[in-house]
Amino acid sequence: KREEVPVQVHGIDPNLVDHRAIDVVQTLKRSGYEAYIVGGAVRDLLLGLRPKDFDVATNATPEQVKSLFRRAFIIGKRFRIVHVVYGRGRENEVIEVSTFRAFLDNSQAEHVDGNERTSKAQLAGLKHAVDASGRVLRDNVWGPQDQDATRRDFTINAMYYDPETQIVVDYHGGIADAKKKVLRMIGDPATRYREDPVRIIRAVRFAAKLNGKGFKLDAKTAKPLVECEPLLQEVPQSRLFDEMLKLLQTGHALASVAQLKELGLSRGIYPLLDVVVERADHPFVQAALVDTDRRVSEGKPVAPSFLLACVLWQDVKGGWEKRQAKGFHPFPALQESIDEVFEQRIGDVSGRGKLAADMREIWVMQPRFDKRTGSTPYSMVAQPRFRAGFDFMRLRADIGEVEESLGSWWQEFQQADDTRRDDLVAQAR
Ligand code: ATP
Ligand code: MG
Repeated sequence: KREEVPVQVHGIDPNLVDHRAIDVVQTLKRSGYEAYIVGGAVRDLLLGLRPKDFDVATNATPEQVKSLFRRAFIIGKRFRIVHVVYGRGRENEVIEVSTFRAFLDNSQAEHVDGNERTSKAQLAGLKHAVDASGRVLRDNVWGPQDQDATRRDFTINAMYYDPETQIVVDYHGGIADAKKKVLRMIGDPATRYREDPVRIIRAVRFAAKLNGKGFKLDAKTAKPLVECEPLLQEVPQSRLFDEMLKLLQTGHALASVAQLKELGLSRGIYPLLDVVVERADHPFVQAALVDTDRRVSEGKPVAPSFLLACVLWQDVKGGWEKRQAKGFHPFPALQESIDEVFEQRIGDVSGRGKLAADMREIWVMQPRFDKRTGSTPYSMVAQPRFRAGFDFMRLRADIGEVEESLGSWWQEFQQADDTRRDDLVAQAR
């Protein structure tokens, strides 16, 4: 089943390959190990995209990898991988190196988790990773390359590229699927979703990401998605939250929402995601999704607090207006409304104190933008989170929730020098 595909067939442009990934592969190979660029990077290279990060797979153990590089760190408990670090500060780049892992079906894996002795006997022949107490770690059972390929999710995510020989190693017809523009799960899709329900969300994410390239989910891969969706209830909330952010903050937010609807997964992945999908056509939320995709495409940073503040803004605004109508002062009314929204959504942002604090700050800043007199504007722009609050108000102006002139006034004020600022404040009076 192992196919070695030469450059004439796969056509990968070597200029798209990061030189640090090449360095890692070369170093490992010179020490006698097997090493390849693997996974999403090979997929993106094959599609002519420049990968945002590079992973390397090898038959060297994490300790062996670490010993070959000056700055390398073994990280993770369940998945022990090595981060090889290049450069410093902003330029700093990490290449993730993982050891080939064995493919275990569920019954084998249960033995490894539960009973060390039987599992060792049953898995004789495989090299094991053991923790300090000698217990076999399920996810660190090392194996040959073909098993490492089989445990991966999609055929196009399971290829290995050697940048020196320019050969792609393909066990599951990934090259053919890439040519056909098919997203196909390796093995029996329902079984693979049961093994790890997060693959359901990954299916949505790659369908969204590659939709623009003409890719479609294979029918057999798509079919069990809906019936398997309830399995996501077993997945820790924090992992679901992270997967939600990958759907929304990797440049394909609109496409992800469209895929969720198309695939019948509009509800039930994560409570906040339900709200996003529900409100995706509301002008403000839509503007926020469009803005997020644009920022990612321009290489600008995106913060989860900003998008989620946009998504929940109508609740905050509703409660705020209700309280003001009852005669409450605007500022305490807003604070109380925010408390209420957090109360209702406590499960969704709990354990994420920083996120909630950032969202609150964006909201609390909004009424202050109306005050363009005295010293308020000067202290506003000096706030560390001013930019997020301003971007939020800018979006509100874009959809006509506040006056356009307010947006342009603050735009000019923040860029102006001191004399011009004084003029602007005088004019605003
Ligand atoms: P992206 O470009 O979004 O990073 P990726 O394919 O690199 O996409 P990662 O989450 O970085 O995705 O994972 C790297 C590789 O690890 C995948 O290409 C896939 O081969 C494998 N993988 C990751 N998560 C799973 C999973 N849940 N089940 C099986 N294989 C997985
Ligand atoms: Mg990746």
